[in-house]
Amino acid sequence: MTELAVDYRLPVFRMRDALKGVGIREIVTKAEALERAGKKVIHLEIGRPDYDSPACAKTAATMALEKGEVHYTDTAGTPALRRAIADAWKRGMGMDVDPDREVIVTVGSIEALATALLTLLEPGDEVIVPTPFFPAYSAQIALASGVLREAPCRFENGFRIDSADLEAAITPRTRLILLNTPNNPSGAVMEREELEGVAALAHKHGLLVVSDECYEKFLYDGQHVSIASLPGMRERTVVLSSASKTFSMTGWRVGWMIVPPEVKPYAAKCHQHLATCASSFAQAGVAEALRSADADVKRMIEGYRERRDFLAARLRDRFELHMPQGAFYLFPRVSALTKRLGLDAPGLATWLLDQAGVATVPGDVFHAQGEFLRMAYCRPLEELAEAADRIEVALKKNGMS
Ligand code: PMP
Repeated sequence: MTELAVDYRLPVFRMRDALKGVGIREIVTKAEALERAGKKVIHLEIGRPDYDSPACAKTAATMALEKGEVHYTDTAGTPALRRAIADAWKRGMGMDVDPDREVIVTVGSIEALATALLTLLEPGDEVIVPTPFFPAYSAQIALASGVLREAPCRFENGFRIDSADLEAAITPRTRLILLNTPNNPSGAVMEREELEGVAALAHKHGLLVVSDECYEKFLYDGQHVSIASLPGMRERTVVLSSASKTFSMTGWRVGWMIVPPEVKPYAAKCHQHLATCASSFAQAGVAEALRSADADVKRMIEGYRERRDFLAARLRDRFELHMPQGAFYLFPRVSALTKRLGLDAPGLATWLLDQAGVATVPGDVFHAQGEFLRMAYCRPLEELAEAADRIEVALKKNGMS
């Protein structure tokens, strides 16, 4: 009998863009290869808080383990954690959230995003995403058989969303708008008026909103505003958030979504079939962090502010940048530099890695229009200082005095 050759038929439709372009992982891999070859690399490419998780969270998780909380929890999360999330919302946003009818605990906000898109999108539905954006958005829209529509946020405009650009992206197939404030990678924070502009469009065109607020505590001035708090928006909005950034708990893999009660049964089923539930003892730790780690969060945010101010001041003369109002990334425009060096943004990122041993991410990864680099400043001040020194030396060596 002749055997048929294996045909994997890859990529399948939902993975059509998965391997396209350069991703952050590829840059990390290249940086690690350099390190293995004995070169010291400063990692400004990884968007991962470097502080330890709050002690109260570790104690609570350890106690949960010792008490035998090692089994599946409620699919939507432990009642204690859902209550702590609802209480935190009341404290932070002054909004009442029903822990039973509106909260689902997920495996990080990344799973909350997948759950939201898989629950809300029909195949072919269009999702408008302001650019630049966190690259998981385009991948997850594709996984949910949706179609990405980009709406540009311009550097000249401080990466603010212009309602006219958003409206221009709306078609009869548009189902939802995916927002991210504070923004990864631009550091822009959406003000109330901007959110009101989005809300007006959602009402006018009958759209839903998925609002990724996982950097909700990372504001250097003013207060975070959730679009769900605007009149008539609660019922149109799914909010995603997470313990990852707020409490420096990325490895615990706990996030959550706040959904309209009508959506909850479907989203909860979707989450159940994707993940069953988030880790039991990690949930206990996150509940305690939400209850008792405000002082830790305040201290960490002050640390990030100091780092932001330091790195921005050091790089200002070489890179064209807006002072980020939120999150922990600088996102300078580098077109002047790339022009002088005869490179594009990915070429400049590779050049900085090779010449200065500083790893960054080209803006292309975030679908930025134009030449940008993302530099995550969630590193100790001494490393940021060394990165700035090395960049300076490399540029000088190449004739840029
Ligand atoms: N949204 C944004 C904008 C992010 O930057 C990240 C992580 N880098 C996530 C979601 C996912 O984070 P997590 O799953 O750890 O909550």
